[in-house]
Amino acid sequence: MKLLENKNILITGGSRGIGKGIVYKLVENGANVAFTYSSSSSVSKEIVNDLASEKNNIKAYKSDASVFEECEVLIKNVISDFGDIDVLINNAGITKDNLLMRMSENDFDSVIEINLKSVFNMTKAVQKIFLKKRSGSIINMSSVVGIKGNAGQSNYAASKAGIIGFSKSTAIELGSRNIRCNVIAPGFIKTEMTDNLSASVIESWNSTIPLKRPGETHDVANLCLFLASDLSSYITGQVINVDGGLLT
Ligand code: NAP
Repeated sequence: MKLLENKNILITGGSRGIGKGIVYKLVENGANVAFTYSSSSSVSKEIVNDLASEKNNIKAYKSDASVFEECEVLIKNVISDFGDIDVLINNAGITKDNLLMRMSENDFDSVIEINLKSVFNMTKAVQKIFLKKRSGSIINMSSVVGIKGNAGQSNYAASKAGIIGFSKSTAIELGSRNIRCNVIAPGFIKTEMTDNLSASVIESWNSTIPLKRPGETHDVANLCLFLASDLSSYITGQVINVDGGLLT
């Protein structure tokens, strides 16, 4: 029996990068997967078609995670299509980097709304389902930047640090109902998000990573697999870095 067989998993931002890697890993391990995207409709269709030969149920939904009402509608639709949700992975995120001196109010607000408020929106919407059945696993995607900070990323760091506080509180609040909530803090993972970085920035990051390489999406997906599965049933309220030792 596969690790995630009979589990219905909802992940935000599954159309690209880390989220896409997680979708493939979950399906490979037997899960039924519902994933969201914000604008990548054709790419999302391709992913669903690519995975259609698997026995698992897989479906993509266009849904803006920063909009409270859209998250409520999404949960209703996923329940109607899949029957249940066992695991929620809040992965959707953006960056709008700039030095504080040049950062606009809009760039601060949109990063907080898409990265942090989305986690509140989705967790609030799914908690009724988890509370009713007295089980559930919530996995929230933070960043090492939320722990350490980073010049030019005050908005992003604030959103990712906020996710950690939110997740620890949720773990304490919902633990008695067997609902777990953990955080993944990736370091430098190769995706479209990091493809915009210059070669010199990439080189300098690599030199400070003890494992001397950027992470791959499957490095993060492997931890997701563990946290989504029953292998992690006594683990909650934790922040786990996937960073090649960067914060060591
Ligand atoms: P990415 O390649 O830019 O992909 C972002 C995903 O989020 C896409 O699927 C995108 O959908 C979706 N998305 C964006 N805004 C959304 C919204 N409002 N509602 C719903 N979905 C939305 O990013 P990534 O590098 O894979 O990062 C994934 C997560 O890991 C993020 O939370 C990021 O902060 C975190 N992280 C990444 C790294 C890294 O090195 N890459 C390091 C630490 C943490 P569309 O395709 O439709 O735009």
